[in-house]
Amino acid sequence: MSELLPVEEALRRVLELVRSKPLERREVGESMGRVLVQPVLADRDLPPWTKSMMDGYAVRAQDLRPDSPFRRQGCWELQTVGELTAGQVCQHPLEPGQAVRIMTGAPLPPGADAVVMVEYTESVVHAQDPQPRRLVRIKRPVQPGENVLPQGAVLSQGAEVLPAGWVLRPQDAGLLAEVGATQVLVAQAPRVAILATGDELVPADHTPGPGQIRNSNGPMLEALVRQAGGVPVCLGIAQDRFDLLTQLIRQGLQSDLLLLTGGVSKGIRDLVPEALCHLGVQPLLRGVALKPGKPLWVGVHRRNATSTLVFGLPGNPMSTLVCFELFVRPVLRAMSRHPQPRPQFLPARLDRPWQHAGSRTTFHPAWLTATDQGWIVTPVRWQGSADIQVLARANALLRLEQGRPRWDEGELVPVLPLPGGQLGGVGAAEAEKEHTPQTPNAGSNQP
Ligand code: AMP
Ligand code: MG
Repeated sequence: MSELLPVEEALRRVLELVRSKPLERREVGESMGRVLVQPVLADRDLPPWTKSMMDGYAVRAQDLRPDSPFRRQGCWELQTVGELTAGQVCQHPLEPGQAVRIMTGAPLPPGADAVVMVEYTESVVHAQDPQPRRLVRIKRPVQPGENVLPQGAVLSQGAEVLPAGWVLRPQDAGLLAEVGATQVLVAQAPRVAILATGDELVPADHTPGPGQIRNSNGPMLEALVRQAGGVPVCLGIAQDRFDLLTQLIRQGLQSDLLLLTGGVSKGIRDLVPEALCHLGVQPLLRGVALKPGKPLWVGVHRRNATSTLVFGLPGNPMSTLVCFELFVRPVLRAMSRHPQPRPQFLPARLDRPWQHAGSRTTFHPAWLTATDQGWIVTPVRWQGSADIQVLARANALLRLEQGRPRWDEGELVPVLPLPGGQLGGVGAAEAEKEHTPQTPNAGSNQP
């Protein structure tokens, strides 16, 4: 256990322990970001009947042939026998020479097989006619099926609307409503206890005294958990005292996941691993070959039917974020039955040459920009893992493999987007400013 595990191997071991959450039926509107466990099927044909796609006249296309008896002076004249707006249904079959004024979305009358756009028609009355009839003059012929969507053309009854494994997005709610699916079967949201540890910590609404700092990891983790579809259970701050720590950890072990921050390194007050082991948490990882985040501690607390995965995240905010994205988010995804729980890296081109003297795989804060030429990545200035301001200057993590000293401008590198989706814009300009002039720094970039 003493040697540091590579990131992939560590993640593999952690994911092996994940038990997916039991299922529940939920309202669609409250299930955004959740993973469908069962496919959703169409409860009827879509569209449910052959419908008009235009405002115009429903006709029999054969009445508008060049040799049709309804041809008059280069146009065609049909008798208008009714009007159909969306929501109305016509039972009478259309006879030869007849047309029905029809609006978009209305079902075609029986016998009609095409719609002429209203723009190509004019209604006429022959004054000399003893019984004035409403006629429509049609200036262009149509093909059978023109401006018409046949019944079942989009989906036939019983067809799959969304597959199992689909991550629900707002636009899917419309599709689900159309097929009458008001609820979906998804995994229950994991409950995630969050406990910050450290004698120096005070809550964010306190003014820190000498030697104190505000607890920034707690609120960050709470937001990350919520955004990842978990239910945060905030346990506040534990002082670095064995009795207080064990008391709060005990509470945390009632959740599916327990996230602790701080207290997992080699300091004399780093009591978290000892307290966890004391409460029966079995260690799984004690350190990972990664920067930042090396001291990451992971264990499992097994009970009869359930278990709690416990993460001792390193205290520095950047380390906490990196470990969350590389390990905790994948666990939350796996618990929610996400088909791709592992971090999804994008290939991006480095916008400058880069040097790096790390002996561990490094996740460097960076700004990812979408361009016509693909993704471009700019590593941002970073003063090491305690640099909290960098959280606002980065929208991605640039992965730099261990043992490689330099990367060329334009080289493709793997980049992990951070949540929030802010690509380009203000951040891109800020990232650019960072590098003029480029400053050597205390982080992993040593030019
Ligand atoms: P530790 O892992 O406890 O040695 O903490 C490493 C560094 O992270 C120290 O500088 C701590 O003050 C800082 N730190 C620990 N916990 C937090 C927290 N919840 N919020 C902000 N900084 C923290
Ligand atoms: Mg500490």
